[in-house]
Amino acid sequence: MTTSEPASELEEESAVETARRQLERAAAHLDVDEGIVERLRHPTSVYRVTIPLERDDGSREMFTGYRAHHDSVRGPYKGGLRYHPGVTEEECVGLSMWMTWKCAVMDLPFGGAKGGVVVDPKELSEDETERLTRRFAEELRPVIGPMKDIPAPDMGTGPQEMAWFMDAYSMQQGETEPGVVTGKPPVIGGSYGRERAPGRSVGIVAREAIDYYDWDIEDTTVAVQGFGSVGANAARYLDDLGASIVAVSDIDGAIYDPDGLDTTDVEDHDETPGMVSGYDAPETLANDELLELDVDILIPAAIGNVLTGENARDISANLIVEGANGPTTSTADQIFEERDIPVIPDIVANAGGVTVSYFEWLQDINRRKWSLERVHQELEDEMLQAWTAIRKEYDARDVTWRDATYIVALSRIAEAHDARGLWP
Ligand code: GLU
Repeated sequence: MTTSEPASELEEESAVETARRQLERAAAHLDVDEGIVERLRHPTSVYRVTIPLERDDGSREMFTGYRAHHDSVRGPYKGGLRYHPGVTEEECVGLSMWMTWKCAVMDLPFGGAKGGVVVDPKELSEDETERLTRRFAEELRPVIGPMKDIPAPDMGTGPQEMAWFMDAYSMQQGETEPGVVTGKPPVIGGSYGRERAPGRSVGIVAREAIDYYDWDIEDTTVAVQGFGSVGANAARYLDDLGASIVAVSDIDGAIYDPDGLDTTDVEDHDETPGMVSGYDAPETLANDELLELDVDILIPAAIGNVLTGENARDISANLIVEGANGPTTSTADQIFEERDIPVIPDIVANAGGVTVSYFEWLQDINRRKWSLERVHQELEDEMLQAWTAIRKEYDARDVTWRDATYIVALSRIAEAHDARGLWP
C-alpha cells in the first residue's frame, strides 16, 4: 500500500488525496484486510464523455463530462452530478469515495459515485442547460439505471436538471423510470423534503453535538459560510431551535449581527442570488473573516478546501460541522486535532441529502409517495442511528469525530467485501 506524505501547508490538496488519507487513518484503527483497503483507494471505473452542445446562436461547443464509480459492494452506485468549471476526473473520484463512506455510515444499501460536467452553468441559457443535461444523460445511459447507478443533484444542478435527466433516460428506455435519478421535483416522483434534507441533517447533527458537549442551544452562536440549499437550511433549522446565527455569507461576502440574524428574512442563494451580501445587516465581513469569527459553531457549507493549513490556526470556533463536501484539508484537520477543535465530518453531517434520496428511490420503486412529516421523522431516526454508532466509537477510542465516523463506515464496507469475496 502506498503511504502518502502529509501535504505541505501551501499545497492545495485534491479531493482524492484527502479521501485516501482519511481512509488510511480509519484503517489503522481496524483489523481490515490490507487488500480491501488497497481496493478502496481506487475507483471501480471512471467514464469520460464528450457532450456536444448546440448553443443558442447555432454554433457547436464540446463539453467534458465524468461519472466515477467507486464501490458497489453494498448496493447500486449513488451520488450527485455537479456542473462547475472546476470539475476534474480526480475530483469526481475523491467525491465518489466520500459517497461510499456516506452511504455506509447511514447504512443505506448504496455504493458511491459522483459525476459532473466541466461547465459554468451561469454561462448557459435555460435551453442550453436542458440540451446539455439531456445529452449528458444519453451519454451516461449505458452505465446508469435504477438498480445500477442513481445520480442526484450536487453543486450547480437541482430538481429541474434531474427532471430533464429522468425524461431523457425514460424516453430512450421506452418507459418512465423515476428511480433513475433522485432529487426530482415531487410532481414526477421526487420526495418531499429532499431539497432541504442536506441542510436539515447538518442542523440535526449540530443539535446532537451541542447536546453531547452539554451546551445550551439558546446560548450557542453559529457562523455559516455559504447560504445556498445546505447553509440556509442548516441556519434556519438551528435558528428555529433557538441558536443565534450571527453570520452567513455568499460568494461576495458575509453579513454579521452579534445579536443574531433573522435567517428567514435573508433570502438564500437559490431564492435570489446575491441577496446575502446585499442584505441590510449591522456589519459586513469578508468571507475569510467569517471563518475566523469567535463563535461556538462554524458551518462551512459552500465549497471544498476552505479550511486549510493557512487559516486553521486562526479559526476561533469551538466546533466545526461540515456542510460542504470536503471543506477541511488533511493539514487543517491535523491542526484542529492538536488544537482540540472537534470537527463533525461531511459524510454524516450533510448525509441527509442522500438519505432522503434513498427515501425517494424507495417511493419511486413502490410508486407510493410519503408525506413530508414521514420524511422528517424517518430522516430524524436515520440520523440518530448514525450519530449513536459514531458516538459509540468516539467514546470507546481515542480518535477524532472524523476517524470515528470513518471507522463505522469502513467496518461495514470491509465486512461486506469480506462476505461477498472476489469474483472470479
Ligand atoms: N450530492 C449529494 C451529496 O453529496 C447527494 C447525493 C445523492 O443524493 O445521491 O451527498
